[in-house]
Formats: sequence, structure tokens, C-alpha cells
Amino acid sequence: MSYDHNNIFAKIIRGEIPAKKIHEDEWVLSFYDLYPKRRIHALVIPKGAYIALSDFTQQATTEEIIGFWQGVETTIKLLQLLPNGYRLVTNNGAHGHQEVPHFHVHILGGEPVGKMVSD
Ligand code: AMP
Repeated sequence: MSYDHNNIFAKIIRGEIPAKKIHEDEWVLSFYDLYPKRRIHALVIPKGAYIALSDFTQQATTEEIIGFWQGVETTIKLLQLLPNGYRLVTNNGAHGHQEVPHFHVHILGGEPVGKMVSD
């Protein structure tokens, strides 16, 4: 499967559609999820064209990988989630119910997020 340059997050990176940004630097963009599942629901995406986690891990440079995870940490701090905790989620592929084919991490918090998955 090749990267779809017209996916919605690629359009957000290019500024073609708006997003409520939290943090942006050379490596990442973080913004609020349009359909929040918890009081705070943010997304962090690398600026490079990667479909999912394995793709990112195998093909991104070390600088990109470090830059991405530092961007996740910066976003968590900006959202003031450190004292009470939060959850990171990354959905991958069909069984992971990934809807947008650009690698991203969800940050959920601002209230107890509940059990990891429904029974
Ligand atoms: P996933 O199922 O992991 O691919 O999650 C994709 C997420 O993107 C969902 O939580 C959507 O609510 C969110 N989403 C879709 N379109 C937008 C958008 N234009 N701006 C912000 N979040 C979006």
C-alpha cells in the first residue's frame, strides 16, 4: 500500500484544511481531534509521509523518530496532562480500526479515560 498524499492529515500539514493546533515544529504537528472521545483528545502526527507505526519506525530517520516522540511529550506538557495522567493510542490497519492512513498518536485525558478496550 502506498501513501495517499490526499489523506486528511496530509491536507492539514499542507494547510489546505484547518486544524486547532496545539504544537508545531520541524518534525510534528499536534492538534485537537475534531470528534473528541474524552475531555482532552489530541492527535500528534509526523510531518513526513508515513502510513502507520511500522512504516514510520522502519523508514523514518533517527532524527524524525526522536523529533516525533519529543513532539508527543511537548504536547502532553502543553495540555498539562502530566500530573493526572493520560493515554496514548495508535490505531494500525484494518483490525486496529485506523481511519486516516497517516501515522498518528491519539492523546486522551483531562478525565479518567476508562478501561483500555471494551470487553
Ligand atoms: P484513527 O481511527 O486512529 O485513524 O483516527 C483518526 C482520527 O482523526 C479520528 O479520531 C477522527 O475523529 C479524527 N479526525 C478526522 N478528521 C479530522 C480533522 N479534520 N481534524 C481533526 N481530527 C480529525
